[in-house]
Amino acid sequence: MSGKDIRILIKYYRHIGVEEDKLYEKIVNYLKKIYSDYPEPIYQNFINRIIITSKKYNLIISEPVPFRKNELEKIRTLKNYRLEKLLFTILILSKYDFIMKSKNEDYKNDYNNYTLNLKDSTVLRFAKISKKKDEDLFHELILSGLMKHVRGGGFDVILFDRDDTSDILFYVEDINNIWSYYKPYCEICGIEIEKRNNRHSLCNECYKINYKKSQLEYIRKKRGFVEQ
Ligand SMILES: [Zn+2]
Repeated sequence: MSGKDIRILIKYYRHIGVEEDKLYEKIVNYLKKIYSDYPEPIYQNFINRIIITSKKYNLIISEPVPFRKNELEKIRTLKNYRLEKLLFTILILSKYDFIMKSKNEDYKNDYNNYTLNLKDSTVLRFAKISKKKDEDLFHELILSGLMKHVRGGGFDVILFDRDDTSDILFYVEDINNIWSYYKPYCEICGIEIEKRNNRHSLCNECYKINYKKSQLEYIRKKRGFVEQ
């Protein structure tokens, strides 16, 4: 058994409600069952360390969800960070749903795109977006043409191709923190930035260049005004 396997086992025990102070004992008992000569003292620190480091995640997705280049490009066409983050969340949730369901051989779906059947409020919670008054982000997504609501069917079709084979940018491994995987980015050059400023979302470089440009513009205008 590798450290990775032990980590999964610990998460499983947590998931079924084993308390923190019982985890070590549970793991050791398990290992002793498989390896009759398990040298407990040698691995004690190792196991304890995994117990601590595996705490960071409440519930791991049993299947990591890949996020692809084409998907990012499509999402960014929205040019509205809140909407983009919402669509990203919907996409990841629906892809996760698809991955889990398609493990079942009987699973059939008439759509070539991803579908999602969750309440709007639940999706907003996953996206960590609080609804503003008189705002309907879901309606805006449908207007954008990247999502479709199926009348009577009670679910949304997310218009992203299931056969997309473009490069995988990263995997979403923690379903409780999907929102944290969609990073703000510079509006000019597109690189990821740590935080969005209220007034602008530019990286430091572009901000400097932009600032210089606007200064020059200002001087030019002023001069032009004087020379007239
Ligand atoms: Zn930039």
